Amino acid sequence: MNFVNEPELDLTQEAVQKHLQQAFAQLDATDTPDIPLVIGGKRIYTDETLASVNPAQKSEVVGNLSLAQPAQIDDALAAGRRAFQEWKFISVADRNQLATKLVNLVREHRYELIAIIVEESGKNVGEADGEICELIDFIHAYMIGMEQLKDGLDYLVPSPVESREARYLPLGVGAAIAPWNFPLAILGGMVMGAVLAGNAMIMKPSSDTAVVGYRLFELMEQAGFPTGLINFITGKNAEMGDYLVKHPKLRFINFTGSKQVGLHINQLAATPQPGQIWIKRVVAEMGGKNAIIVDDDADLDQAAAGIISSAFTMQGQKCSANSRLIVLDSVYDQLLAKVETRMKALNHDPARANGDVGPVIAKRAFDKITSYIDYGKDNPEQNTLLVGGNYDDTQGWFIEPTLFEVTATSRIFNEEIFGPVLGVIKVSSFEEALQLANDTAYGLTGSLYSKNQAHIKTVVDDWYVGNLYINRKTTGAVVYQHPFGGFNLSGTDGKTGTTNYVQQFLELQSVTNHH
Ligand code: GLU
Repeated sequence: MNFVNEPELDLTQEAVQKHLQQAFAQLDATDTPDIPLVIGGKRIYTDETLASVNPAQKSEVVGNLSLAQPAQIDDALAAGRRAFQEWKFISVADRNQLATKLVNLVREHRYELIAIIVEESGKNVGEADGEICELIDFIHAYMIGMEQLKDGLDYLVPSPVESREARYLPLGVGAAIAPWNFPLAILGGMVMGAVLAGNAMIMKPSSDTAVVGYRLFELMEQAGFPTGLINFITGKNAEMGDYLVKHPKLRFINFTGSKQVGLHINQLAATPQPGQIWIKRVVAEMGGKNAIIVDDDADLDQAAAGIISSAFTMQGQKCSANSRLIVLDSVYDQLLAKVETRMKALNHDPARANGDVGPVIAKRAFDKITSYIDYGKDNPEQNTLLVGGNYDDTQGWFIEPTLFEVTATSRIFNEEIFGPVLGVIKVSSFEEALQLANDTAYGLTGSLYSKNQAHIKTVVDDWYVGNLYINRKTTGAVVYQHPFGGFNLSGTDGKTGTTNYVQQFLELQSVTNHH
C-alpha cells in the first residue's frame, strides 16, 4: 500500500462552503443527542448525565453524556476480552479491510464531522478539516505499519534442525484516554493504532468532546469492527478514569493529555492489582513548553508568521504550541513589531466562518489561563503586558491572544498554560537562547528561525526535543512528514503515524520447533 496524505478541503470553493453551511444547518436543526455508553454492542443510557457544551456559547448543550459506573467498566473489559479472543486471529489484511471502510465512511461524513468538531471544541473549520485528514492519514499509516510487522523478524539465523520464528502478538484489552483538543484525529488514531495491531479497546473520549467521539464510534461500528471489540465509555475522569486504569484486566493504556494526569496514570498503572498478571504498558503523550528561537539573521516575516500560527491557532491549546519566544537582541524590536501587528490583525469571526480567535475549551481552562494573565499583570518585575490581556466569559470562554515580555524566572516562561498566552524574552547570544530553550522538564517541539548553518547544526546536535523544526512553525505535524511525539516529561515518544507507534501495542513471541 502506498501512502498519500489526505488532501485538505479548499475552503475558498463555493461548493465546499455550501456543504459546510448545509452541515451546520442540519446540526442546528437536530435535537440535542443523548450519548450512551456502548458495551458489548449494548447501548446504556444513564440517569445521571453530563452536558457537553459549545465553548463559544456556553448555554448551548451539544450533547448529554452518560456516566459509566465501575460495574460498566467491568463489563466493558469482559466484552473486550471476549472480542479479543477472536480478533487476534483475524488476518492483517482483513483488519485493514475494515479500516479502509472506516476511512471511506469518514470521507463520506466529512462535513458533518467538521460541524460537530467546530461546535463542540470551538476550533475553526480549517483546523477541524485538518483533523479529518490527520485521522485518515493515521489509519493508513497504521495499516501500513501492520503490513510491515505482520511477518515478525526476518533476520533470525536459519537452522537445519529447527524452525525459528519471532512474531508479534497483540497485548489484549487496552484503554484509549483521549484529549479534547483533537477530538477526532487523536482519539481515532489512538484507538485504531491499537485495534489494527489486534487489540480490543475501551474508547474514552474527553467529556468535553464526546459527541464527536461517539459519532466516530458509530462509524467504526458501521465499518464492521466486531461487537465488543471497541467499547465506548464516558464519565467523570477522577472516579471512572482511576477505576479503569487500576483495573486488573486492563493490559495497556494509551493516553494523551496533561502532564499531571499522565503521571498520575503512570503511577496508578505501575501498582499491580490483585488478579493482575502483567506489567501494564503506558503510552503517554503529554504537554510541552515549546520554544521558538529567532536568530539575528532570521527572515523576520517568516518567523513572525510561524510564531503567530504556533502560539495562537486553536487558542494555543495544542501540546505542540509555542509558548516561549526567545529572540536575539539585535532583531528584538523589529521582530516584536511584526508579531504585534499580526496579533492585532487576527480576526474574531466565528469558528464556523473560520475565524482566527475562538474560545478556550471550558471554564476550568478559562480560569487557569486567566489566572496566568492576572499573575502577569500583578507581577511587573517579571512580566510586562505587550498585547492583549483581556478576557470575557459572558457568552463563551474567550481570551484575547496575549503577549508578555518576561524574565526567565516568570511563571509564564516556565509553566504550561495551554492557552493563547506567549512569553517573550530578549537574549544577547545564541548560546544563551539555546540554554534557555533546553531549560525545561518538557521536550516536545522546538523551532529555530535562522540562516546561520553553524547555529542550525548546534540545535540539531543539542536541542533535546522530540520534534525539532528549523525555519518552520512548532505546530501542525503532518503524518509521514513529521512523526510526532516528545521527550522527557512530554511523553513516552511513541511517534504517532509510524510503524513504531503500532509496535507499542504488540509483544514479540519467539517460537522454535525442533524437528
Ligand atoms: N500533532 C499536533 C501538532 O503537531 C499536536 C497534537 C497535540 O496537541 O496533542 O500540532
